[in-house]
Formats: sequence, C-alpha cells, structure tokens
Amino acid sequence: MEAFMGYDVIVVGARVAGAATALLLARSGLKVLVVDRAPAGSDTISSHQVQVPGIARLARWGLLDALVRAGTPATREVRFDGDGTVLRGSFPAYDGVDALYSPRRTVLDALLVDAARAAGAEVIDGFRVEELTAEGGRVTGVRGRARGGTALLTYSARLVVGADGKHSTVADAVGAARYRQRPALAFASYSYWSGVPVTVGEMYQRPGRAVAVFPTNGDLTMVYVAAPLPSFAGARADLEGHYLATLDRCGDLGERVRAGTRVERLRTTPDQPNGFRAAHGPGWALVGDAGAVMDSVTAQGITNALVDAELLAHSIVDGLTRGRLDAALARRQRERDRGLRAMYDLTVSLARFAPPSLGQRQLLAAIADRPAEVSRFLGMFAGMESPARYFGAPNALRILGARGVGRLARRLATARLCTES
Ligand SMILES: Cc1cc2nc3c(=O)[nH]c(=O)nc-3n(C[C@H](O)[C@H](O)[C@H](O)COP(=O)(O)OP(=O)(O)OC[C@H]3O[C@@H](n4cnc5c(N)ncnc54)[C@H](O)[C@@H]3O)c2cc1C
Repeated sequence: MEAFMGYDVIVVGARVAGAATALLLARSGLKVLVVDRAPAGSDTISSHQVQVPGIARLARWGLLDALVRAGTPATREVRFDGDGTVLRGSFPAYDGVDALYSPRRTVLDALLVDAARAAGAEVIDGFRVEELTAEGGRVTGVRGRARGGTALLTYSARLVVGADGKHSTVADAVGAARYRQRPALAFASYSYWSGVPVTVGEMYQRPGRAVAVFPTNGDLTMVYVAAPLPSFAGARADLEGHYLATLDRCGDLGERVRAGTRVERLRTTPDQPNGFRAAHGPGWALVGDAGAVMDSVTAQGITNALVDAELLAHSIVDGLTRGRLDAALARRQRERDRGLRAMYDLTVSLARFAPPSLGQRQLLAAIADRPAEVSRFLGMFAGMESPARYFGAPNALRILGARGVGRLARRLATARLCTES
C-alpha cells in the first residue's frame, strides 16, 4: 500500500455498521478514524433482535462473551403465532451459534466502539460531518464541527465510509443513486417492561399487526408492535392505547404485559424507509442502513449491518492491498445486493400487511408438528436461508408432497373460479 498523509479510512457513524467496519479495518492494520455526532454510549430508536448470523459475526470477532457478560440473555427458542398456526422451535446452528440475542443498543453499540478503539481506531464522538472534501472528482475527506465548537475541522483519508444511517449525509453529499425504493409502509412502537418474564421469544402476526417480545438486558422484556402506516394518523392521539389494544389481540400477552411495569417511555416511529443506494464511488463507500435499509418488521437491520461491515472491510483491505479498490468495492456491492434481495422483498411484503397466501398458510400448517422443519423456517426468518428459496416450488413440493401441492392447486383454481364467477 502506498503511503498517505492522513487516515486510510474515515468512517462516519459509530453504531453497528460503522463501529464494526472500523473494528475490522483497524484489526487489519489500517489507520482508521470513526466519528459520530451522537455521544458515545447513547441510545437510538431501534429495538434490537440480532439474528443468529449477526451473533455469529460477534462471536467470530471475539465479542460474544462480553455481550453475555453484560447480562444479555440468549433466546434459543421462538414461538411464532401466525394467527391460525402456531410454530414453536429452535434456531438451527449457524457457524457454531444457535441463539438470537437482543442487546440494548447502549450495550451493543458501545461494545463495538470499545473494540474498535482497542484495535487502534481513533474514535471522536460528538463530531458532526457537514460536508465532504473532494479533489479531481474523488472524495478525499470530511469536514465538520465538534459538539459545542465553532471551528470547521477537516480530516483526510483515502476512503470515506458513510455508516451514518438511513438519512446518510455521506450518501446525499455524493448523490448515491437510489434503487428498489419503496415508500415507508409501517410504523413501530416499542418499550421495556419489568415483571413480564418470557421463556422463549414470541412473535405474533395478526391482520394489520405484527408483534415481537424478546428478553433483553436488565431483566427487562422488550415488547414491539408494528402496524400499517395509514393507521398512524388515527393511532397518534393514543399511541399507548393502540399498542396495548394490539397486545390484547395476542392471546394472554396483553394481560401479561398489563400485569408488569413499563419502565421506559413508549417509543414510536413512522420513519421506516425501504430501499437501496449505490454503495460506492470514487473515494467513498456506504455501509449498513446508509446503503440499504428495510422496515423493522423482520428485525434484520443490525444483522445486515454487521454482515455488510464484514463484506466491506474485506473488500477495502483487499482493494487497497492490490491497488484495485474500486473493483473490490463494485464486487462487494453486487454481493451485498444478492445477499439482501430476497429478505428485502419479504420484509416489504410483511410491512404491507398483506394476508399470507393460501400456499404460505398451507406450508406453515404442514410444518407445525415437524420440529426440524420449524427450525428451518425460523432459520429462514433469521436470514440463514433465502426466503425466495424457502417459499419456492421445490421446497413447497418437498414439504407438502405431490398430493398436498395438487390439493393446493385445486383449491387455488376453485378460489379463482369463485372470484371470476
Ligand atoms: C423501530 C425500529 C426497530 C428496529 N428493530 C430492529 C431489530 O429488532 N433488529 C434489527 O436488526 N434491526 C432493527 N432496526 C433497524 C436498525 O435499527 C438499523 O438497521 C441499524 O441501526 C442500522 O445501523 P447503522 O449503524 O447502519 O445506522 P444507525 O444505527 O442509524 O447509526 C448511524 C449513526 O450515524 C451517525 N450520524 C448520522 N449522520 C451523521 C453526521 N452527519 N455526522 C456524524 N455522525 C452522523 C448517527 O448519530 C448514528 O449514530 C429497527 C429500526 C427501527 C426504526
């Protein structure tokens, strides 16, 4: 690698995507600066199931033990109540990990930042990037201000990585092209409860609603509700009433939650865009939500960010070492898109709250009493198998058998005839 005065890489944003990228780059021996306008250790609007592949990344990076020591409980089993079919089962193992964890962002993000710093990355919190510097059409650094400061400070690097979330300043500054954009479709509310013990993770699908219940740090239980965006205006006057009324539609969940104590305010956001952005250009790259964002209903964003950080860090190290950075970043964008596409489509369709198809309902009913199949279904939901492949014809045929598929085809034909007549 040629010598460069300044940093090899500046990362804007020090949460899951940015801190993980900085950590991996610093461990590879690069000179890294990571900045964030938020104070270190601060919370953010996000619930926090980290799917098994995300946890496998943390384990690989040597951080899972620290997460567990911070009092983050493991969730190995999930009860999925699909309003008609109930599945209960365990996650399949992935790279030696068989549990989902739901660490508070104050815990997870701080852990990653501390690890990045320990690996040699320089971390500045309370620093807002206002613009990028460029020379000959190539981004060369960032310019911004420290919290409370008036001086405009400039830092230079061979590459600037935007890990600055769904409203990325870096993406806007470089005009990163958007594609596969879908409007926001759902809003989400969540809070933390004591006295609501859970032995397994709980997920509920009801017409126009999705609910998730997972244990988190401090012996608390995080309870999350999603609903269609068009109902937000009506729900706004009484968001807590809307939230509790949804829980009342989920068996005894409403009762159990009301018997506990809400220990933090209810957080609600309608700010849930969906879409991809070009992930690289001359002197810049995007990672995490800045480059690809999807609704929280499938709880994939953190895992996506960790997986994406690993992909990006490998491509940067490889590209700088071989002197072919732009080609390495282009390969990584293709890989990112291939990896995310099917889960993105599933997420968008769930965020639309379209009722499950007859085929999907039959598939779920057929696996309910088959533990290995439930496990595979949960693995698909956790991002271990492509939803396109899971719901594809060969797998349906395998699960339902030729007679089951025949019955399904006849019912679909009858339904079509009924709607046509
Ligand atoms: C309600 C809700 C629930 C969710 N639940 C889950 C879940 O259960 N599981 C899951 O996996 N995902 C969930 N997500 C998604 C998840 O929160 C995101 O995918 C994830 O936070 C993306 O991480 P990131 O590091 O890319 O960006 P962010 O977490 O958004 O971090 C970006 C950082 O960049 C900083 N920044 C921005 N602009 C600048 C600037 N100009 N200068 C300096 N710093 C800047 C910000 O301060 C911020 O700290 C949820 C999201 C929402 C909204």
